[in-house]
Parts: sequence; C-alpha cells; structure tokens
Amino acid sequence: MVKPSSIKIVLLMRSFMGILSELDNLLEKIPLWKKLKSVPSEVEDLKRRVIELEKIINSKPGDKCPKCGDMTYRLDRTEPDPTFSDVGVNRNFYKCSSCGYATFNQQ
Ligand SMILES: [Zn+2]
Repeated sequence: MVKPSSIKIVLLMRSFMGILSELDNLLEKIPLWKKLKSVPSEVEDLKRRVIELEKIINSKPGDKCPKCGDMTYRLDRTEPDPTFSDVGVNRNFYKCSSCGYATFNQQ
C-alpha cells in the first residue's frame, strides 16, 4: 500500500523538475547566458595556445629577432673593437639563424 505522503513527495518532485525545465528554457533566451556557456571552450582553446607557444619558446632559447620576429636571435661572437680595443672595448656580434639578420654593439 502506498502512503499518501509518498504521493505528495512524487508530485512535489514532478513540480520541481517542471520548474527547473522552465528555468532552463528561460535562461536559453538570455544572450549573456548563451555567451557564458561558450566561455569554458574558449578558455580551453586559450590554454592549448599557451602550451603551443611555451613549446616554441622553450625549444628555441634565443631572443626575438628585430627583423623576422623568430626567437632565434642570439650572441654569435665577441671580438675586440677595432678602434677602442686598447681601452678594453669589445664588440658583441648578434645573428638570427632564421633570416640571417646581424648586428653588433660595443661593450
Ligand atoms: Zn630573424
């Protein structure tokens, strides 16, 4: 035999589920709610891009080339400065292994 209180609980649960369903339908009509639903996938996409960029940076431990932008610009060699070597000035030569851009500074 079913207790009357059990029937009340079942009816209350059905009403509650109906309210949740209506609430869900209402939220679907709100533009911001639709936008918020897309945020998790956008965050996942950004995480994936950060990981890809970290791999590129860590595999090429150079500086950013001022000409081509690759992370392959680094110190090539250091030589005594032809004009000021007698006062201890050196030249640091930098070169990009991607595009060949080269320059130097005095030290
Ligand atoms: Zn370059």
